[in-house]
Amino acid sequence: MRCLMRAAFAAALVFGSACGTSTFQVNDGPTLEGPFVAIPKALTGSESAALSQALDRGFPSGTVNPNDAFYIAINRSELGQKWFMSAYLTQLFPRFYPGAVTLGTRVVSFKVQNGKLFVFDVDERKKTSDSANPELIVEAYPIVENQRAFSSMPGSGNYILFDPAAGLNRFNFVADAFSNPAASSRFEVELMFSQRFRRIADGVTFDQVFTGSNEAADPAADTSVERNAFRYSGSIGVALRRYKEGAGYKPVALPDQEHFFRSDAKIVPYESRLEQTAAHWNIQRGMRPIVWKISPEVQRIARDPRYAQYDVVGSISRGVENWNKVFGFKALEARLAAPGDSAGDDDTNFIHVDIDNAFGFAFADWRNNPNTGEIRGASVYFSSLWFEIADGLFEDDPAPNATPIMRKALPNVPARPKVARITWDALGGHELCALHPEDVVAAMAESQGTARAAAAQRLTKKEKVERYITHVMVHEIGHTLGLRHNFKGSLVPPSSSVMEYIEDTDAIFLDNPASYDIAAIKYLYGLSNQLPTDPFCTDEETVVDPLCATFDITPDPLGQGYGPQYATVVSQFLSGQAPNAPNRTLNNMLKFVRAGADSMTRTRAFGLVMNGFAVPLSAMNAGNATYARNADRLTNLVLSRMYLDPAPLRGEFVTDPSKADPALNTLIMAQLRGTMLNTDKVRSYPTRRTTVDVLKKLQTLEAYALLTDAKAALTTEIPTLTGNDALLAKDLLGRIDAAITPYFTR
Ligand SMILES: [Zn+2]
Repeated sequence: MRCLMRAAFAAALVFGSACGTSTFQVNDGPTLEGPFVAIPKALTGSESAALSQALDRGFPSGTVNPNDAFYIAINRSELGQKWFMSAYLTQLFPRFYPGAVTLGTRVVSFKVQNGKLFVFDVDERKKTSDSANPELIVEAYPIVENQRAFSSMPGSGNYILFDPAAGLNRFNFVADAFSNPAASSRFEVELMFSQRFRRIADGVTFDQVFTGSNEAADPAADTSVERNAFRYSGSIGVALRRYKEGAGYKPVALPDQEHFFRSDAKIVPYESRLEQTAAHWNIQRGMRPIVWKISPEVQRIARDPRYAQYDVVGSISRGVENWNKVFGFKALEARLAAPGDSAGDDDTNFIHVDIDNAFGFAFADWRNNPNTGEIRGASVYFSSLWFEIADGLFEDDPAPNATPIMRKALPNVPARPKVARITWDALGGHELCALHPEDVVAAMAESQGTARAAAAQRLTKKEKVERYITHVMVHEIGHTLGLRHNFKGSLVPPSSSVMEYIEDTDAIFLDNPASYDIAAIKYLYGLSNQLPTDPFCTDEETVVDPLCATFDITPDPLGQGYGPQYATVVSQFLSGQAPNAPNRTLNNMLKFVRAGADSMTRTRAFGLVMNGFAVPLSAMNAGNATYARNADRLTNLVLSRMYLDPAPLRGEFVTDPSKADPALNTLIMAQLRGTMLNTDKVRSYPTRRTTVDVLKKLQTLEAYALLTDAKAALTTEIPTLTGNDALLAKDLLGRIDAAITPYFTR
């Protein structure tokens, strides 16, 4: 229901900025000069009406003006030359879209064939030999003939006029771009026109305003505003800039570990292999600093009375400029954007500060030269929700000797929204990192109460909030410099890396690049030939190495982080103080049972998991009815989670514990035996049924033997039972019979 407001605001934001001084006005009367010239396009009355009607639904009135439409004239001397073509999705309606996101960059060249202006992808990545360098079609625009206003212009013979709004427009619709970017469906553009033509130093930029239909209904569509769940309107920013490689740019070979984002894969001619390098900027001493522009909306946060005490712009700027300490010279500079700057402009590195909290993310993306991996520009999106969270989370530390207050109550944050996107076939493009506060809060939910006093330092609320904002920015800017996550940063407390996902209470101590980041950046930018020596792992390893984890703490997460967090939840549940059994913390502990590096880690983890409710329960606890009942429920939960629950419930690690670890096996079998035979007399029938299912799944002789033992014991026991007990025992016996007749499934 709030979608209209959000979309309307976002649209006003981008189109509002189109009135700035740098916008080339088509109606000024163009002269034919330079590589590309915009020529006013006279729309017929019916075209204009159709456009207006279609666009009225998607854009606030007055923000889009079909009368500003234009053709583009390309200088014939540019045919065959190399250009960078980049695109940004800047608007999408009715699904909310948070400002410009890059759709990618290609190296292209233009050719006239069959009455069309073809745009070919001409990067060197596909070249297998000197004679074989396939050129792929990116676009094909109709050439406009007989346009009187154009052909009467002096020099028009040197130009070819084409309609940039009538290309192939091979677009796709992605319903959940941040979580499942691969799932897309065809999007048919029905109407498009070009506006906001702008000359920049090395080329031109313009916007493509479109409306069209998705071939499938959007499952997340909000039909309160746009009743047609297939229809979308939006705007794509396009840039054409002359191809250029930075002077002195040196490709950096990928090290063994994935410290850095990779360049696009490139075929090595005459050798059937692909090559990638570490993407980075052309940063060198003596250069002009790379400018990051902070969107003017940041001033609205600064004026918000809630945030009056904070240095809003400074805390964001420091997230950029604190990286200069690593370079030892001013490589990056942050400043406020001018009114004409837009996040969709290829020549601008933009920090899009969004004052609408509904979207909530912080994320970064970039565009690079597909030939060399040189990063040519980047953008960061940053929601003011981070200010709201920080303001709600932190307090002044009290006087010395008092316990520092690390955290107030956990904030309520909106759920991570699904992000819709239109993509353009030939371009591609993806986020480097998409962090949502919900991830942070979810990770902290079960760890509340174990936050550590991270340092002896006393900080004010103001210092904490500002450092927290700087931390989020320094992380995102780190990505745009080429760094991947380092989820082992926290093994060196509070973290050896800002590229870690760090609990908020520790994040305030990481507003500057840390030892890992310094070493990684120095290596990537040729300031050192030493690779980082701090522990390192990145996203892919979070599902195979339990020490590679977001939001974990201490050098021994099992013993000092997850362990105590889990033990707190377990003990409150056992005593009946809290109704919720462990879930996320259990999964975190079980990571070490499933995939701990060695047998000692795995057995230690299993011991910690079962601590407090393992068979046999002590006589004292067994005599406490609440405790005994909850111990049984926990046993049932843990056995199910280890072996029976579907993968999504298990968290990141989904494999069953290894049967090839004899020490672990002995511990687990002892628990299964005690539960199956109910040796401490507190194990319920549901838990024992779970045990049967686990033993069946194990498919080992040992498990089979245990089931036959249990059958014998039950057969003896049943004649002594009465009522419900007798019924449930017989049912259990039936389950065992079914499991062992036969036992082995193959
Ligand atoms: Zn990140």
